[in-house]
Amino acid sequence: MGSRGTIAYGETRRARLAGPLLAVAVLVVGVAVTLRTVGALHEDQRAAAARVMDQRTAVARAAVTAETGRYRDLMQAVAAGLGTNTHLTARDFAAATAPLDTAGLVGATSVAFLVATPTGDIEETERFWRSRGADGLTLQPRGTPDVHLFSIFQRTLNDSAPADSGLDVAAAPEGAAALLEARRTGRPTVSDAYVLLRDRTVPLVRRQLSFIFVAPVFAAPDADDELPRFQGWVAMGLRGQDFLGGVLGTASQGLLDGELYAIDGGGRRLKVASYDAPGRRDLVRQATFPVADRQWTLLTGADSHRLPGARNGTPATVLLGGTLLTIMLAILVWVLATGRSRARAQVLVATAELRSAEAESRRQAGLLGAIMASLGDGVGVVDENGAFLLHNPAAKALLGVPFDATSPGEWQEHYGIYRPDGRTPFPLAEMPLVRGLRGEVSDGVEMMIRNEQRPDGILLSVDGRPLDPSAGQHGAVAVFHDITALRRYENDLAVFAGVVAHDLKAPLAVIRGHCETAADELADAPESRETAEVGAALRRIMSAVDRMAALIDTLLAYTTSRDAPLKLRAVPLGPLVAEVVAQRTEHLRPGAGPPPDVYVGPLPEVRADPAMLRHVLDNLIGNALKYVPRGRAARIDVTAGPADEGWTRVEVADRGIGIPAEDKPAIFESFHRARTAEGYAGTGLGLAICRRIVERHGGTIGVADNPGGGTRFHFTLPVATAAPAGDEEALDRALAERAEAEAVAQPAVAGTARPPAIRPPCVEAPPAGPGTPAAAGPLAGPPVIRPAVAAATPRRTPGAGPAGTA
Ligand code: ADP
Repeated sequence: MGSRGTIAYGETRRARLAGPLLAVAVLVVGVAVTLRTVGALHEDQRAAAARVMDQRTAVARAAVTAETGRYRDLMQAVAAGLGTNTHLTARDFAAATAPLDTAGLVGATSVAFLVATPTGDIEETERFWRSRGADGLTLQPRGTPDVHLFSIFQRTLNDSAPADSGLDVAAAPEGAAALLEARRTGRPTVSDAYVLLRDRTVPLVRRQLSFIFVAPVFAAPDADDELPRFQGWVAMGLRGQDFLGGVLGTASQGLLDGELYAIDGGGRRLKVASYDAPGRRDLVRQATFPVADRQWTLLTGADSHRLPGARNGTPATVLLGGTLLTIMLAILVWVLATGRSRARAQVLVATAELRSAEAESRRQAGLLGAIMASLGDGVGVVDENGAFLLHNPAAKALLGVPFDATSPGEWQEHYGIYRPDGRTPFPLAEMPLVRGLRGEVSDGVEMMIRNEQRPDGILLSVDGRPLDPSAGQHGAVAVFHDITALRRYENDLAVFAGVVAHDLKAPLAVIRGHCETAADELADAPESRETAEVGAALRRIMSAVDRMAALIDTLLAYTTSRDAPLKLRAVPLGPLVAEVVAQRTEHLRPGAGPPPDVYVGPLPEVRADPAMLRHVLDNLIGNALKYVPRGRAARIDVTAGPADEGWTRVEVADRGIGIPAEDKPAIFESFHRARTAEGYAGTGLGLAICRRIVERHGGTIGVADNPGGGTRFHFTLPVATAAPAGDEEALDRALAERAEAEAVAQPAVAGTARPPAIRPPCVEAPPAGPGTPAAAGPLAGPPVIRPAVAAATPRRTPGAGPAGTA
C-alpha cells in the first residue's frame, strides 16, 4: 500500500508537471511560428515596398526627363520658328511663343529673345530693335564684358511678374555660359543653376535656383552658299523648386520626397530644389539622367508605410491573431493536460480510499461475524419480505432447525413456535419480527419452541425491532434468549417461598389459637392484677403474631408480583373492588367510630391477572382506609376514566393524611415510608408491589395530591376486548407448579387476619372535596357505600374503623 502510494504520488507529480510543460512548449512553438510568419510577411512587404518605390521613382524620373526634354524641344521649336523670319519683329516673337502660354510649362517664368551686342553697338542695337517693335526697350548693360547679352522681346509665363526688358544676361555667368555654349554648338542647351536676374530682387527666402533653357536662333541664309546666320537666342527661365514641386507632386501623387541636383560646368553637384512629401523617409532612390548637355540627379525618398500596395495591416493582424491563437491553444492544452492529470489524481485518491474503505468494511464484517458467532443470544435479521438476511450460530442452536423457511407464513410450523403454554400456535401477527416489520418494538415476548429437534420445547424471550434505517435496508431484527432454566428456577423459588410462608404461618396460627384460648379462659377467671397483666401480655403476643403473619404475606406477594406468570383474562373491575372493600371493612364493629365512606363509580372490564389485580386494589384501598387522621372516617372514591385507546385509568382517591411532596417520588420504592406514616402500621412494600404488577400489565401507576386534601392514586390497565383465540386457556405448562404455589399463598394474602381494634374509631368525616363526587355527611354506624351512577356497587355494612395493615 505504501509503495503503491509512492508510485501513485510519483505518477501524479509527473502528470502534474506534464501539463504546464506541454502548455509552455505549445506557447513557445506558437509564438515562434507566429513571429516567423510575421517576419516573412514583413520581408515580402519590404520587397513590395521596394518595388513600388522603384516604380514610383522611375515614373518621377521619367516625368522630370520628359518635362525637361519637352522644354528643350519647345525652345528648339520656337527658335526654329523665329529663324524663319528674315525680318524678326516683336509680333513674330509673340506669335511664335504664343503656344507656350497653354503648354503647361511648370516652373517656367518667361521666354525671351536675346541678342549679343558689343559695348559700342548698344545704342544702335537699341534703336534697331525698337524699330522692330520692342517699344520702350532700354538696354541695361552690366559691367564691361566684350559682348552684352540683352533680352529684347519676352513673354511672361505662368502669371509670373513681368521682368524688365533690356536686361543684360551677361551679368549672370551661368546664363551667359549657356548662351555662348548654345551658339557655339548650334544646339539647345541648359544652363547651370543660378538665381535668375529677375529674381535677384525678391527676398532671400523665396529666391530659388533656376535654369535657363536656351536655343540659338539661326536665320535662313540669304544665298545658297551662305551659312545660316545667327540672330540671337530664345531662352526660357525655369525655377528649380517650382519645377520639381510641380512635376514630382503630379508624378508621385504626393508620396515621394525629391531633391534635384545638377552638376554644373565645374563638375560640382548643386542642390537645386527639394520637395517634401508627408511621412518618414525610409526608402531612398537616386537617378541621374541627361538634360540637354547637363547631368541632373533626382534623389527620391518615401515612407514605405504610405506607398500603396507596399504595406498593409496583415503582419500586425497575423501577429495578434497568431499570439492569441497560441495563447488559447496553450491554455487549452494546459487545461486538457492538467484536467487529465487532475482526474487521474482524483481517481488514484478515490481508488486508495475505496481500498481502505473496503479493507475497513471487511474488517468490520469480520468483527461483526465474530461478535455474532460468539453471542450467546440468538440474532436473526429479515428483509422487508421476511426472508432471513442474517442469523448467528446461537440462533440456529436455539431453534434447532435450519433457517430455510421462505416466508413468515411458514415460520410457526417450520420452527415450531407456540405460546408459552406449549400448545397454542403463536399468532403470526404477534411475532416480534413481524411486528418489527410493521415498525413496532416488542420486548420480552415469550414463546415456546417445540419441533423435532426440540421435542421438550424451550422457552424463549424475544425482543423485536425494526431495522435501523442506517442499514440501508428495510427489515427487522430479533434477539432471543433461552429463559427455560430461568423460569424453572423462578418456579422453584416461588414454590419454595410458598412453602416457607405456609410452614412459617402454621406455627403462628397455633400460637395465636393458644393465645385466644388462654385469653378466653382468663376472661372467665376473677379479675385481679395478675389476670389483667396476663391478658395484656396475651394481646401483645397476638398482635405480634398478626404482624408477623402479615409480613410473611406481604413478602410472599412481593415475590410473586415479580416472578409469577401473568394469567391474563377479562376481569370486571366493579365486583372486584366491591369484594376488596367488603373484605377490608367486614371486621369493623358498628359503633366503634365513624364508618368509612366509600364511593365506587362505574368501572370497566379490564384485561388482567385477577389475583394480582386484587393485590393492587387491596393495597390502595387498604392504605386509603388506613392513612386517615385519628378519629376521622375514611372517605374513598374508586373511579375509572379515559386513557389511551384500549386503556382505562383507575383512580383511588381519599381524604386521608396525604403524602408530603418530597416523599412522593420514592413511595413506590421498596420499604419506603413517608414520615407522616409514623404511628401507622406498615412495611413499605405495598406500593412497590402495586407498581410491579401494574407495570407487568403494561400500565403505569402514579400518585398526586387530592385537591381539597388527601391522596389520589391512579393506574392504567388494558381494557378487556375480544381476546385472541386460545388466550383464555393459555396455561404455562412449565410454570404449572408456580401457579399452584401462588394458589396456596393467595388466601393468606387476601385473608389477612384482622387485629382487634388497632385504631380508635373516627368521630367525624372530613368535608367533601372535588375528588369525591358523592360525599356523605358524618355518619355513625355502617360505612356508606354510595350507589354508583351506572354500575351496581355493593352496599356494605361493616361495623368498626378501617383495617390496620395492607
Ligand atoms: P405501607 O405498608 O407503609 O403502607 P406502602 O408501600 O403501602 O407501605 O405505602 C408506602 C408509604 O406511602 C406509606 O408508608 C405512607 O407513608 C404512604 N402512603 C401510601 N398510601 C397512602 C395514603 N393513601 N395516604 C397517605 N399516605 C400513604
